[in-house]
Amino acid sequence: MQAFIRHDPAGPAVALVLDSPHSGTRYPADFDHLPPRFVVRKAEDTHVEALFASAPAAGATLIEALFPRAYIDPNRHLADLDPAVIDEPWPGPLAPSRKTELGIGLVWRLAQGAQPMYARPLSIAEVERRIALCYEPYHAAVAGALDERHARFGAVWHLNCHSMPAVGDAMSEDPGRKRADFVLGDRDGTTCEREFTAFVARTLADMGYDVAINDPYKGVELVRKHGRPAERRHSLQIEVNRRLYMDEETLERTVGFAALQADLARLIEALAQYVQASA
Ligand SMILES: [Zn+2]
Repeated sequence: MQAFIRHDPAGPAVALVLDSPHSGTRYPADFDHLPPRFVVRKAEDTHVEALFASAPAAGATLIEALFPRAYIDPNRHLADLDPAVIDEPWPGPLAPSRKTELGIGLVWRLAQGAQPMYARPLSIAEVERRIALCYEPYHAAVAGALDERHARFGAVWHLNCHSMPAVGDAMSEDPGRKRADFVLGDRDGTTCEREFTAFVARTLADMGYDVAINDPYKGVELVRKHGRPAERRHSLQIEVNRRLYMDEETLERTVGFAALQADLARLIEALAQYVQASA
């Protein structure tokens, strides 16, 4: 099972790495989810890897996950596991977070509409296999790309790319609320320099988008793990509102996709200049 694709620049590199952890659509044969596939697929950040596909042209590396996040979620800590999804006591440390409480921890207990994801508990071996074949290779790829750039430039900037439903659903912290066009998450100013968050927010606002910061998404495991601004490692989560580019029922791209993709290419170009001026 191939866990990810790494898209590297053909030309000169800059100290910028993007990753798309939730856009994978290769459903493994052993993923025997209970609801129909079209329901399970609502968990995906569908098309996000394509929205940010211009990253290599701007000198950035883009890491794209291929496995579905409902199978195992790379944006969760390994201890953020719900004991209710497995049939025996988990041998590792357990520290279930609010995400697990909502049914969307490391291994999702619930699918859209809060319906059970499985008709049976999973075995320890199954979860360990998902960690070994998907989670760990993905984390190693992101860490490797960030470490390479940091070693070369003395600093690295990381944009962790996601999309969000237009309106909060039953498994979110803000059910029923309409979201902004973009939500940036730096875990309340702890995962990157404040100028980076402000620069991304300003660049998007100048294009006419409304941008919220740390509300309702503050950023989860990937920015928490990689964002260490004191070491000049800056990680920022970006959530794109799905209404800007897709039909949330059919998952098809809408007419807005191309314009949004072009705006994100301009954002990435601006970020490439920002990191060159800052590195
Ligand atoms: Zn996501």
